[in-house]
Amino acid sequence: MPISNSSQHTCPSLNYDVLIFGSGCAGLSLALKLAGSLRVAVLSKFALTEGSTFYAQGGISAVLHEQDSIASHIEDTLIAGGGLSNPDIVRLTVSMGKQSIQWLREQGVKFTEETDDKGNKQLHLHREGGHSFRRIVHTADATGKAVSLSLIEKAQLHPNIELLENHNVIDLITTSKLGHSEERACGAYVLENLSGKIKSMAAKAIVLATGGANKVYLYSTNPHISTGDGIALAWRAGCRVANMEFMQFHPTCLYHPHARSFLISEAIRGEGGRLLLPNGKPFMQNYDSRLELAPRDIVARAIDSEMKTHGIDCVYLDISHKSGRFIRRHFPTIYKQCKALDIDITKRPIPVVPAAHYTCGGVYTDDYARTDIPGLYAIGEVACTGLHGANRMASNSLLECLVFAERAHQHIMQNIGVFPDPPPLPEWDESKVCHSDEEVVIAHNWDELRRFMWDYVGIVRSDKRLKRAMHRLQLLKEEIAEYYGSYRVTSDLLELRNLVIVAELIIRCAQLRKESRGLHFTKDYPEPDDSQAPQNSILSPADIKLSPQD
Ligand SMILES: Cc1cc2nc3c(=O)[nH]c(=O)nc-3n(C[C@H](O)[C@H](O)[C@H](O)COP(=O)(O)OP(=O)(O)OC[C@H]3O[C@@H](n4cnc5c(N)ncnc54)[C@H](O)[C@@H]3O)c2cc1C
Repeated sequence: MPISNSSQHTCPSLNYDVLIFGSGCAGLSLALKLAGSLRVAVLSKFALTEGSTFYAQGGISAVLHEQDSIASHIEDTLIAGGGLSNPDIVRLTVSMGKQSIQWLREQGVKFTEETDDKGNKQLHLHREGGHSFRRIVHTADATGKAVSLSLIEKAQLHPNIELLENHNVIDLITTSKLGHSEERACGAYVLENLSGKIKSMAAKAIVLATGGANKVYLYSTNPHISTGDGIALAWRAGCRVANMEFMQFHPTCLYHPHARSFLISEAIRGEGGRLLLPNGKPFMQNYDSRLELAPRDIVARAIDSEMKTHGIDCVYLDISHKSGRFIRRHFPTIYKQCKALDIDITKRPIPVVPAAHYTCGGVYTDDYARTDIPGLYAIGEVACTGLHGANRMASNSLLECLVFAERAHQHIMQNIGVFPDPPPLPEWDESKVCHSDEEVVIAHNWDELRRFMWDYVGIVRSDKRLKRAMHRLQLLKEEIAEYYGSYRVTSDLLELRNLVIVAELIIRCAQLRKESRGLHFTKDYPEPDDSQAPQNSILSPADIKLSPQD
């Protein structure tokens, strides 16, 4: 539908050096680094704050404790990654921890400090699951908010950065789609949510910083924007996507009818929080010797199993053995949110359930955040850099955003002089579509997709469940493709179109993996396959035709 014939080509008026899709930690960090010498536009689907970054509670991992070491952080990350992390990428990322925290402090982020025995001020460090040392830099329990607000403030003041809210990227434009022989990303079609207008925007380099895809599941800790748009955009443009079966379920999301997607930070377990059954009995000793500090996948599966065994709606997380003062100081946001729902966490346990939290897989990138298409980069949760492997260790993701923003910055600055100017872009063609009179189809399909992904492609999988999910997906795909071809695009339709691609990529990756490893657990192959070296699940659009709309 979108690309009109060559006679309709127009010169784009909206020309930048770099277009960045996403205003989270990854996108804004890169924008601020580039803006010293380049003209940058940062697009955000809704408000600038509306991304996972703003909601991150725990913090950012970095080796700062005097007994800690880079080697230990690398080892912990590799263990969590279940044999699939790329050791070179892990080393690169971990060794840039300290400088990344320093850079954030220079942008005005105020992290929680403590005074040591000698009266010196230093950063207070939390400990979280999988980490051998206290290594989580944080701003109380609202680290993401502090990072997000500081970066937004800096970006708003920068004359070289244009911040465009309510701008929803529909599709990438590449030179091959325009009939050129050499492939290069050169722009995108963008829907202005408020006016409904669609414009083409061009740049010498394009960066996907669109976050994860966790809204593909019924229950998620993520904000509404996490619909995997960047993964679907890159896939449609011809990029490889990898390891989508590794979706991380956070073990402890608040269970309450009036709380939507509120996370109970892992730091509560780091400070001695115990998981309990409704009768007050602990159960983690039946699953892992690390108890509540076992990696998230093990804790999530343990909770899932207890809930199914006992037919209960939730389990409980108890931190009430700590003093009220300690709890209010270290977990003010969680304390207030729970108190507002009549749960006093200083006195009683918190009801919790697992929920989809983090997308380990994504657009396949190299150590400079480059994708398969020249001129197209992917940074942050949208990317699969090789850092997380089969499982992300807590608080390594904001670090990854910062490190790969820096790596993309380095590559763009070194090469911008030789990047060609984008060609004139065609306008969006709406001549064959009309307004829909059946919006209910979108709402219904959204719900159906997220429900069967939860039931069949969730924490515990099987061949039969994956086959069932794929069968249902095919029907949805056809309906959505037909709808997309006939009606004017809306934000909801674009998200659904992307989610259906992401769902198929998850199912296909899960079907490729005939073993259980890291976050992927299947009843049919409950153990890792140690007969061969662990393999990434890499899908290429050249090999697979996913849907009629590709
Ligand atoms: C509740 C919660 C707690 C977390 N806690 C931690 C933690 O303590 N430590 C840690 O390391 N990680 C944590 N994480 C994970 C971490 O927050 C994310 O991985 C990280 O913030 C992702 O940053 P990002 O910049 O890649 O994407 P995001 O911050 O999600 O931003 C994505 C951006 O892309 C934009 N976008 C998306 N699609 C489009 C489109 N089609 N067009 C235009 N713009 C688009 C959005 O509007 C948004 O601006 C947490 C996540 C959640 C949800």
